[in-house]
Amino acid sequence: MDFKQIITGIYDEVKASAPDGKVSDYIPELAKVEPDKFGIALITTKGSTFSIGDVEEKFSIQSIAKVFLLSLAFSIRGDSLWERVNVEPSGNPFNSVVQLEYEKGKPRNPLINPGAHVLSDILLTELNDPYEAFLQFVRKITGTRSIDFNEKVAKSEKNLGYRNASLINLMKSYGNIENHIDAVLDFYFHICSVEMTCEQLAKAFLPYANLAQPFDFAGVTLTRSQIKRINAIMLMCGFYDESGEFAFKVGLPGKSGIGGGIVAINPKQFSVATWSPRINKKGNSIFGMRALEMLTTRTEDSIF
Ligand code: GLN
Repeated sequence: MDFKQIITGIYDEVKASAPDGKVSDYIPELAKVEPDKFGIALITTKGSTFSIGDVEEKFSIQSIAKVFLLSLAFSIRGDSLWERVNVEPSGNPFNSVVQLEYEKGKPRNPLINPGAHVLSDILLTELNDPYEAFLQFVRKITGTRSIDFNEKVAKSEKNLGYRNASLINLMKSYGNIENHIDAVLDFYFHICSVEMTCEQLAKAFLPYANLAQPFDFAGVTLTRSQIKRINAIMLMCGFYDESGEFAFKVGLPGKSGIGGGIVAINPKQFSVATWSPRINKKGNSIFGMRALEMLTTRTEDSIF
């Protein structure tokens, strides 16, 4: 497969198309990002990297961090995790309160906000220093010691985090949050504030594609069966109420964040990350989705 040629062709074509969508502005610190940044990085399980565009610039990974959070919580709790959070697609926005009320405080899945709040709560209960454990894990899996939280972004989100606070309050009323609401919020906003480049993000997700290697990073271990489950959750829930659309158009498990990042994996083959800050109404990067649709169309290869 000539990934270099395919990636370059996609980049040129998408970059030349008319800008569409808007940079997310409900987290004031993220509204400052230059809207027309664009990068694609693909790493194969054999170790080759193909990248083009703004692939060495850091951006806020936001909800993509939920996959790392899930990996830590699943590694610690195993299947008992599913007593606290379901594994069904939500068909609703990532921060919707309505469904959570109907379903008595048990989130539909770990990749919507209330799901990630429950996982954050579990890490606060289980670990002495969940902040440090989270950083150690993401540093190890990217092989980059400098990966860190962005305190400004975390603070900026916390200042206006009323909706996340309401979701956590609602779950606390149903007994599905053990720790103090403020502690859960603070940890959740920190993990969302982690910054990575496209290349680092693609590297971080390679272990979810590379099933031949044991998954063991900074003490976080997952079995092949657990990785299979995380990938299934990404396919069904990684793009919130646009997960069906992403599976339909792209056909790969993946995860988006409102910082404009998308990462997807083709099991046993590659991991690919895109960054373009202009997002659509569902919170997913428009150029990123377009580029990945072109990738699976041109390679004629997806999980289907
Ligand atoms: N931190 C953001 C929030 O909680 C993450 C949302 C996202 O990336 N979809 O609203």
